[in-house]
Amino acid sequence: MPTVQVSVVTPDGKVYDGDVDMVSVRTVEGELGILPKHIPLVAPLTVGAVRLKKGSTVEKVAVSGGFVEVRPDQVTILAEAAELPTGIDVDRALQAKERAQKRIESNRQDEIDFKRAELALRRASNRLDVAGK
Ligand code: ATP
Repeated sequence: MPTVQVSVVTPDGKVYDGDVDMVSVRTVEGELGILPKHIPLVAPLTVGAVRLKKGSTVEKVAVSGGFVEVRPDQVTILAEAAELPTGIDVDRALQAKERAQKRIESNRQDEIDFKRAELALRRASNRLDVAGK
């Protein structure tokens, strides 16, 4: 069965490297499922989970924006930040979530602060989801 080689790279280094049956990513336009021999494309990513399907197992990586580059036999995810479930500090994500929620509740007038807090909330919620919490 054909596979596709996937790398998830951040400014801090490589987070994942492997061959999978299918990878799905969350682009700004929605979920994109990529099988081997997909047409080449580059798309911006939003906060979300990358799903790596291999046989009957699915691994998740929490990604906080960036780009996906698809080539027929290779997918490169250039992420602003990315963590495997084992690399996620759950307490830190819970604290970030609480901080963001408080800012959203107390700061509805300041649009920039509000948007920043909303993004922080999405990053924290995504990490907790990928960590299975
Ligand atoms: P925080 O407010 O806790 O810093 P954040 O969403 O603002 O969270 P980012 O700016 O997305 O953090 O990430 C900064 C760096 O910290 C990245 O290298 C990212 O992988 C890492 N990081 C952030 N939160 C966590 C977490 N809960 N567990 C593990 N690594 C994390």
